[in-house]
Amino acid sequence: MTLYLGVGSNLGDRRAHIARALEALPAAGIDVVAVSPLVETPALLPEGAPPEWNRPFLNAAIRCRTSLGPEAALDRLKAIEAEAGRDASARWAPRPIDLDILLWGDERVRTERLTVPHPGIAERSFVLTPLVALDPTLVVPGLGKTVLELSRALARPIPLWMGIVNVTPDSFSDGGEATTWDAVERKVDAMIEAGVQILDIGAESTRPGATPLSSDEEWARLAPILERLVDKLAKVPLAPRISIDTYHADVARRALDLGAAIINDVGGLTSPAMLEVAAASDADFVAMHSLTIPADRAVTLPPDRDPVDELLRWLDERRETWRAAGIEEKRIVFDPGIGFGKNPLQSLEILRNVRRFHGTGFRVLIGHSRKSFMSGLTRQDVAERDLFTLGASLQLCAQGVEVIRVHDPVAHIGAYRGWAHLLPMR
Ligand code: ATP
Ligand code: MG
Ligand code: MG
Repeated sequence: MTLYLGVGSNLGDRRAHIARALEALPAAGIDVVAVSPLVETPALLPEGAPPEWNRPFLNAAIRCRTSLGPEAALDRLKAIEAEAGRDASARWAPRPIDLDILLWGDERVRTERLTVPHPGIAERSFVLTPLVALDPTLVVPGLGKTVLELSRALARPIPLWMGIVNVTPDSFSDGGEATTWDAVERKVDAMIEAGVQILDIGAESTRPGATPLSSDEEWARLAPILERLVDKLAKVPLAPRISIDTYHADVARRALDLGAAIINDVGGLTSPAMLEVAAASDADFVAMHSLTIPADRAVTLPPDRDPVDELLRWLDERRETWRAAGIEEKRIVFDPGIGFGKNPLQSLEILRNVRRFHGTGFRVLIGHSRKSFMSGLTRQDVAERDLFTLGASLQLCAQGVEVIRVHDPVAHIGAYRGWAHLLPMR
């Protein structure tokens, strides 16, 4: 039986508690198949709770397999909670670990001690966001809706933060910052510490005027860094996923072999070779819309048409291509490609209307960080562009964007935390 667990911790070393629970599951007869990224959210508290209970949770969802029955599984989960020092008598109090059964295959279970699907599932973005990251098309029995639909219906969106790590000498804002492993490691350490869920590693700049690389050249730059990063993250419990920013199918294939989890393809998942790589893997692929690679400011969508309509049309065509190639839509994340074939007004129009992509059923990724659509609105300098980016990002959060790709995720996670604590709690 495939089941989904929710795990949460808001006491002590939260990451360590979750990691220990994951280690304890197989011995309890529950095999771990996949673990979602971690998301941090404010505590749900009862009225009159003491202020010291207001400790943010770290949450994840876990896909598992077991031959146990639901009640037996619940007993094992409670034993793991007790082992971690949870006081079962204090209901809302901070706890080192909470393990709940979210879904039990497509069954509904209702006994004295157990209700599955978990009764809170449709109101809890801290449960739905991790489930969406594991499988956006999961249907919640009894509700008849996917976790992606349920998650988007809530007013408490939780984005995944994708931190940009360019190992290029020539990227537009941070080129040359991190071409050595030491520099990459410093950057990555700060991102892990802040709670970044995805590291997006790019070895070739696609800014306007960038020099295109061959796939061998790109791989020669990427491979030594990627190897060390994979080694490093293997030792970090609940480490961020590695995404590779490339449009070369060869590079994508080799990176997936090394342990990358996501390919971020600015080519829009259109080249036959990339389609083949995608079809042969089970990784997530970001399909970014563009008109030219590298970006060319002279080539944009027709200025007299609605840019969102143009992108929706593009997605419809791509959908056919992906279906024909045998690539499941749930593995594809759509990125409208801010700055790639859009003038500044078109980029703003798209950013204001991201919700319109929800109807497509694809997860959405936005990469607006420091880009030139803000050039008439801010000075060139990175600090000013980062502030503009951050303000825009909070509005993207409000629109329920699933993944936000930024140069400074540390600042973003800090700002998001404040924003999230002021959202209505229910
Ligand atoms: P919530 O269930 O609202 O997230 P909680 O996890 O803090 O709150 P617990 O103290 O862990 O609550 O559990 C209270 C009781 O809920 C458990 O003793 C268990 O019998 C019951 N329960 C009912 N349905 C489930 C489920 N799907 N998963 C886990 N426990 C459940
Ligand atoms: Mg719970
Ligand atoms: Mg519980």
